[in-house]
Amino acid sequence: MFEFDYVKAKSLSEAAALIAANPEAKLLAGGMTLIPALKQRLAQPSHLVDVGGLPELRGIEMKNGGLAVGAAMQHHEVATSAVVRKAIPALAYLAGHIGDPQVRNRGTLGGSVANNDPVADYPAAVLALAATVVTARREIAAADFFQGMFATALAEGEIIVRLLFPVPRRAAYEKFPHPASGYAMTGVFIAETAAGVRVAVTGAGPGVFRWSDAESALAKNLNPAALDGLAVDPNDLNEDIHATREYRANLVKVMAQRAVQKLLAQDK
Ligand SMILES: Cc1cc2nc3c(=O)[nH]c(=O)nc-3n(C[C@H](O)[C@H](O)[C@H](O)COP(=O)(O)OP(=O)(O)OC[C@H]3O[C@@H](n4cnc5c(N)ncnc54)[C@H](O)[C@@H]3O)c2cc1C
Repeated sequence: MFEFDYVKAKSLSEAAALIAANPEAKLLAGGMTLIPALKQRLAQPSHLVDVGGLPELRGIEMKNGGLAVGAAMQHHEVATSAVVRKAIPALAYLAGHIGDPQVRNRGTLGGSVANNDPVADYPAAVLALAATVVTARREIAAADFFQGMFATALAEGEIIVRLLFPVPRRAAYEKFPHPASGYAMTGVFIAETAAGVRVAVTGAGPGVFRWSDAESALAKNLNPAALDGLAVDPNDLNEDIHATREYRANLVKVMAQRAVQKLLAQDK
């Protein structure tokens, strides 16, 4: 590791001021991604500004009919929250299937969304549910937020404060986890809302994406069989030692069909 100063911010305004005054500073939340990157000398920040305990980034509540989740809420807290389980059980399920207990007790919603790892789970829920990312400066719609592999609409040092999730009629998430890390080899989040059906895919491609053909098919017939004749183009997907493009394309369809099945088993 390179040397750096660690500062535990006491308020959102203090964190924002520290970041503004130190252009080489980085925000720290659960440290599940950032600390390994520092250990491997992949980043050399002058300061780590710890926002993990900031009261402004904590809490889960219903707000104007939507679900507001603080950016510093750990995956375990989201998974076990009675408010999340009642409003969007699929989101609680997703959070409860991230990594392992150690990761779920450190990693945060804000850290995951800011990092936008192409194999992370939360981006699928954020995009399928058309959530809003609320930062210390502005509100960013999910459709504008994710901009490809590890890229987001966040400006340097911009702090995510909370996410606002519209409550769907029903939703479901299914993933094929990598056996070692738990990351999504492919994960599909399906949300049924008054405006239609939204299908977001993570893990398979270079970034989270909506599968529009599946959305149209499911809008006409909300049934797993509606996806039988569809396929995502393997050329748009990732290939590595774990899976070929074609295998991932098949996983997208299988996970989507399982998610629809799961969604249909719920009361409206
Ligand atoms: C072994 C292992 C297994 C994992 N498995 C999974 C998995 O199955 N699924 C999955 O989705 N994820 C998985 N993860 C990732 C993990 O769940 C965390 O979500 C992720 O590491 C980032 O969250 P964090 O709070 O630790 O962020 P940090 O590591 O602290 O920060 C990550 C990045 O986000 C920035 N950041 C943090 N908070 C904010 C904020 N409030 N506003 C703006 N920027 C911010 C930081 O500056 C940094 O660039 C795994 C991680 C590990 C180590």
